[in-house]
Amino acid sequence: MSGSEEGSILVIVAHPDDESIGAGGTIRRHVEKGVSVDVHCMTGNEERNEELKAACGILGVRNLYLSERGDFAINEELTNEVVGAILKSRPKIIITHHPSDYNRNHQQCALIVSQAVEWASHTTIFEDAHRVDRIYNMEINTMISRPNVHVDITASYPAALAAIKKHKSQVKKADSFYVQLYDARTRLRGVQAKCKRAEAFAITLPEHAGPFYEKNSVDWLI
Ligand SMILES: [Zn+2]
Repeated sequence: MSGSEEGSILVIVAHPDDESIGAGGTIRRHVEKGVSVDVHCMTGNEERNEELKAACGILGVRNLYLSERGDFAINEELTNEVVGAILKSRPKIIITHHPSDYNRNHQQCALIVSQAVEWASHTTIFEDAHRVDRIYNMEINTMISRPNVHVDITASYPAALAAIKKHKSQVKKADSFYVQLYDARTRLRGVQAKCKRAEAFAITLPEHAGPFYEKNSVDWLI
């Protein structure tokens, strides 16, 4: 698996379609600016993985880490798998779910990611330990009440919408709910951010607690 250059992004999601609904416009925008974006999905099956591949093709994703694990099979045993994805992808930032999302799988994914980010940075455990700078928590159904940043996705919205529509089984099952939700949500966030369309994120600074983290020291704060 290709090691990553500086400044790449790893998107870690619970289900196929979360990557497009939560951050499709942001992914596409960064890919267009030359940033490599990988996606790790915790659950899947043959049909949904094919849909995910097609969606990620539209978004321009570099590496896609798939699973055949069924929905609701997300638990902390997955932490090592996520650590593995982090050590392979070596991202500067991770985009994942928000811990207050109403969906339990999304909550668990957010928790597992924050644990894995800390674990993957242990130089005493991994020779190739990797330190992630920031976690960006995205929104799916549950709006983030106090987002830290809005990303202007006006130009990449059509690609993100096309990616969502590649998740045909989900679009059909939910009677286009997510297409409508994404349309309305990105317009609302655009109003807040003074652009046509935006995606909102909360930012989590990872905790790197050990005394062996030389990078925890700074000369000054400004
Ligand atoms: Zn989901």
